[in-house]
Amino acid sequence: MSRIKAAVCHEFGQPFVIEDIEIRSPIDGEVEVTLAACAICHSDITYAEGHWGGSLPAVYGHEAAGTVTAVGPNTKGVNLGDNVVVTLIRSCGTCPSCSAARPTNCEEGYDGDLGPIKTAEGGKLHQAMACGGFAEKVVVDSSQVVTLPDGIGMEAASLLACGVITGIGAVVNAAKVRPGQDVVVIGAGGVGLNAIQGAAIAGARRIVAVDMEPSKLDVAREFGATDAVLASTDKPWREAKAAMGRGADAVLVTVGVAPVYDQAPRYLAKGGNIVMVGMPASGAFSSYEAANFAAAGQGMIGSKMGDVVIKRDIPWMVDLYKQGRLKLDELISGTWTLDQINDAITDTKTGAAKRNVIVF
Ligand SMILES: [Zn+2]
Ligand SMILES: [Zn+2]
Repeated sequence: MSRIKAAVCHEFGQPFVIEDIEIRSPIDGEVEVTLAACAICHSDITYAEGHWGGSLPAVYGHEAAGTVTAVGPNTKGVNLGDNVVVTLIRSCGTCPSCSAARPTNCEEGYDGDLGPIKTAEGGKLHQAMACGGFAEKVVVDSSQVVTLPDGIGMEAASLLACGVITGIGAVVNAAKVRPGQDVVVIGAGGVGLNAIQGAAIAGARRIVAVDMEPSKLDVAREFGATDAVLASTDKPWREAKAAMGRGADAVLVTVGVAPVYDQAPRYLAKGGNIVMVGMPASGAFSSYEAANFAAAGQGMIGSKMGDVVIKRDIPWMVDLYKQGRLKLDELISGTWTLDQINDAITDTKTGAAKRNVIVF
């Protein structure tokens, strides 16, 4: 056991408390990572506000990067001293989903209540999303980390743990966008911007960004959107279709808002697919006219974490970054210390498009 500082959620909707917690050494298959950076994701906020339930007290944070400072027995592909990205994608490697190269849907459960952290008094402390990155150290399964080459900073690397892989992966792994296809990305926030740059990398012809905020649409153009549509206009899909000349081959919904899902089919071409990325609060429902999907040969695909295989996908993204073909530094709106995390979260909730990163 060692004592570290963490931001702990004791009550949904209340500010985190910065306090000492206990973390045990890595055991079978695990590594300890001393964190250098952990970005704040909207999922952390959704959990902390209680919209997805879950156990308390808890430590959130799941977009992290740091250095491996202890290695348990039976770990593979990671060594003491490696700089790594730490993700929430914990995969057993042998279940049917893992065997089918879908580790984001690993079927082996994980109970964060039984994880490596406890309160300073030795009480239960939930390791949220199998990570608990709003803390000086994490102990995670070695399946969750990817070793980084030189040439990428920790702040940029932390973004590869969630928002970037979710957005780009949704385009290349879920929608399987081919060169020349047309893509609509609804929501130009952290994930949406990455879906946009993913569509550009994939060679999409038109990339239409749709958002409520004119300022976010300006940023979307910097990330590769060829066209931008203000979501607050009447029937915004008409403007999107005018830009493309037809409907979209892929519509990526990157916001967790049910009424947006209701509208998403309006943007589709025949044979196109909606990729469901944003997650509305538990209990929120959306509706669509089923016959239209059958008649037009359209589909809806759920995509968790961009369907990434982290040890396959993160290294090529790092290489594109080093070549200047993938924007990461531009995604960071500010850096904050762990003590400032509540202010950083307040800033994130103002709806700013980019990521706030906690640096240690
Ligand atoms: Zn996330
Ligand atoms: Zn598995």
